[in-house]
Order: sequence, then C-alpha cells, then structure tokens
Amino acid sequence: MTPDRRRTNLGDRVGQPEPSRASTAPDAPPRACIVCGATASVRLHARPGRTIRRCACGYVFVDPLPSPDTVAGREVEAFRSGLLEETREMFAAYGRSYRPDDPVVRGFVAHLATLARLVPGRRLLDVGVGTGLLLHLARERGWEASGVDIAPDAAARAREEFGVDVVVGDFLTADAPADRDAITMTDVLEHTPDPPAFLDRARRLLVPRGVLLVIVPNHRSLLFHAADLLGRLPAAGPAVVDRVYAPNHYHYFTPATLARLAADTGFEVVRATQESPYLGRYRMNPVVRVGLTAILAAGKVVGRESRLVLFLRRAR
Ligand SMILES: [Zn+2]
Repeated sequence: MTPDRRRTNLGDRVGQPEPSRASTAPDAPPRACIVCGATASVRLHARPGRTIRRCACGYVFVDPLPSPDTVAGREVEAFRSGLLEETREMFAAYGRSYRPDDPVVRGFVAHLATLARLVPGRRLLDVGVGTGLLLHLARERGWEASGVDIAPDAAARAREEFGVDVVVGDFLTADAPADRDAITMTDVLEHTPDPPAFLDRARRLLVPRGVLLVIVPNHRSLLFHAADLLGRLPAAGPAVVDRVYAPNHYHYFTPATLARLAADTGFEVVRATQESPYLGRYRMNPVVRVGLTAILAAGKVVGRESRLVLFLRRAR
C-alpha cells in the first residue's frame, strides 16, 4: 500500500469539508461495534459531518460511515492530491529510484522475510499497492506477486514504475487470484467501509494455513492518547483531531480489538508487533515535527507505538 498516503495516518489530507450526508439517515443511532456487537458507545470527538466514537471494547470508529461511493472517491482523491502535495517526495523515494537503506524499504523487506519464514509457498497478493514497491521487492525475493487497488491511477502508476501486475477494483468484488500463500494489507483496513468483510475475503483467497499481514494505526498508542487530550483544547483541538483522525480513516483498532476481530473472522495471530512511522518523507511544520518526533520516540520506549503489525494465519 502506498508509502504516499498510507505509510502512516499522518500523511492524509485533512480539513476538507465532509459531505453532510452518508449512508445512514440523519437521526439514525450510532452504528454498532464491528468487534463486539455492542450498540452503546461514547463520543470522543465531534467534527463537521462526522463523530468519532469509542466502544467499551476499545474499538474506535467514525459515525456515520460514508457510502461506498464516497469511500472509493476519497481514495482516488487521496491518491491524486497526494501526488501534488506533501507526499510527492514519497513517489520519488518509493518509485523505481528507491534507496535500499530507506527505513520504509527496510520495513517492507523485513515483513517479507517474516512472511517467507511463516509460509512455504511464494504466491502473494498485495491489497492496496501504493507505488508498487512492496510488489517489486516481493518479486525480487522470489515471490509470484500481484496486487489489487481501488484507485485506477495507483494501479497505473505501479505498473509504470515497476511493471507489476495490478487489478483495479474494490477488493471485495475484484477478480483477485485465489490460493495465495500470503496476502499483504498494509494501511488498508482503516480505509475500508467493512473491515470484517475484507478479512473474510482475504481468508478465502488464502491457502489453508496461509498468512495475512495487516498493518493499521494503533489507537492504543501514545500518539492517539496525546491527540485525544489535545483534541479537547478549544483552539488547537479541531486541527489536531483532523490531522490524526484522517478523513479517509473510518476504524481505529487496539492490539486487543484487532486480534479479536481477526479471531472472529477465522484467523489466529502468529505474530503481533508495533512500529513507528518514518517521518523523513513528510513535509510538515518544524514545530509539529519536533513534537511528533518526541511523542513517537516516547511511544517506542513505553511500548505504545503508532502502528500495529499483525501476521494472521488462516485457521479455518
Ligand atoms: Zn465493541
């Protein structure tokens, strides 16, 4: 998935007006928890057109959920604007002239090595291909690798940069290859309207005992803890909330809620770790950078980093 907009939740465009209408009626009750099924939740933050709510189980979600068309439109828009704005540098960094010692590249290589240890076969599907770099690195390491991406521009760009094979479409309905030994879904689940359906489709496309790699923002991180505190400040609060709770992210998991959802969808957790985003490719205000760097460093020290990394084995 994209180093551009999806290496962290910090790179997304924020602050644009939200459409006032979504898939639910204006007076509809908040949606039920997709992890535990509870219908009660508390409001964490209110922003124009969306509320961020938390279930007692720890799952945090955006309410109401936009329609599937709105979701898809935002991904296409995120890709296009990402090409022009703060993530432009990433396309140079993670296109064909990438540097092997770049932290993001090293992260991809490490995750591919873990997958190679966990599964005997070498057929891989990448859901949400970004620049295509992960697919390229996988092919270099002997994987038969292809991808699927909802944004036609992203697929075209990945083909152009790396000559990789990418199907365009929604992962739930796209003509994706079956019998995969490994599937990678990095910075994808939080962008989808229906994470359980995504996990279920991935499970059905895997061979028995195949492994799915999921990477998502960690809501139990110091970054979100700080954002939830700062978000209450009258002056700076809204900007902080819009920055950290990106408008095209709809779900926030903790280690426990993601593991529970995975188990309920037919996976067993074989490895769960955390990682911190690499800020080097993001353009940002120097003061923000210093603060963010401090929060991320502290998160590493206390074991509450901002990204969750789960390797999930198909169990049924
Ligand atoms: Zn819940």
